[in-house]
Amino acid sequence: MATTADVAEVGALLAGCDRVTVLTGAGISTGSGIPDFRGPRGVWTTNPGAAALYDIDVYRCDVDVRRQVWQVRRTSPALRAEPNAAHRAVTELDRAGRLCAVVTQNIDGLHQKAGMDPARVIEVHGTIHWVVCLSCGLRTPTPQVLERLDEESDPRCVRCGGIQKSDTVSFGQRLDPDVLEAAVAAVEECEALVAVGTSLTVHPVAALCDVALRAGARLLIVNAEPTPYDDAAHALLREPIEEVLPRLTRVILAGD
Ligand SMILES: [Zn+2]
Repeated sequence: MATTADVAEVGALLAGCDRVTVLTGAGISTGSGIPDFRGPRGVWTTNPGAAALYDIDVYRCDVDVRRQVWQVRRTSPALRAEPNAAHRAVTELDRAGRLCAVVTQNIDGLHQKAGMDPARVIEVHGTIHWVVCLSCGLRTPTPQVLERLDEESDPRCVRCGGIQKSDTVSFGQRLDPDVLEAAVAAVEECEALVAVGTSLTVHPVAALCDVALRAGARLLIVNAEPTPYDDAAHALLREPIEEVLPRLTRVILAGD
């Protein structure tokens, strides 16, 4: 069973690892002003009705819900947020050649904005920066759709007139199998999986921890709250993510 470790101990555990995969959740982006949805003070925890806006069947059937969602998107902090020290620390590991990939549950694009090679960011829940047509699949940058909101309350696809939606995974929607396969591959090839700011309660993403452990990788968890994988982890860090990740990166890279 893992006990809470300190950064130096965890850094020593990772010092020889050339292949690290980082799994990130909402906790890495709260420091950038993006609210957490599932945490104790999260949007869905404190206002369960808000979750109905993100159900795919409701969205398809109800034009009023779509109008409401577009208005929410228009002011979404995720579109304008800036990466924080934790995102930058992950980028630093990547530039040092130590990362297989970042698998993220976040839709905010902040790893890419922090300079990560987009080819090594696997967005399992999609991205808020693109809009997709639910009929023909046309993808459009989100700002191009949002600028139509002054004239149209539910902007339709310019190619086929279909209903459009943020290219994010809603409740009731399956994850893209190709993206999930890439995430599994990134975890299978790593020597250590570092799970950062994720409650590890949302499947199938949480099960990536099982994949890592079966493949013989070390599992490190950096999260303020307990997770179902704490007992299986090789080490836990509870400190604030924005402080701990830069320190962890320094300790890992100092071992080179
Ligand atoms: Zn279309």
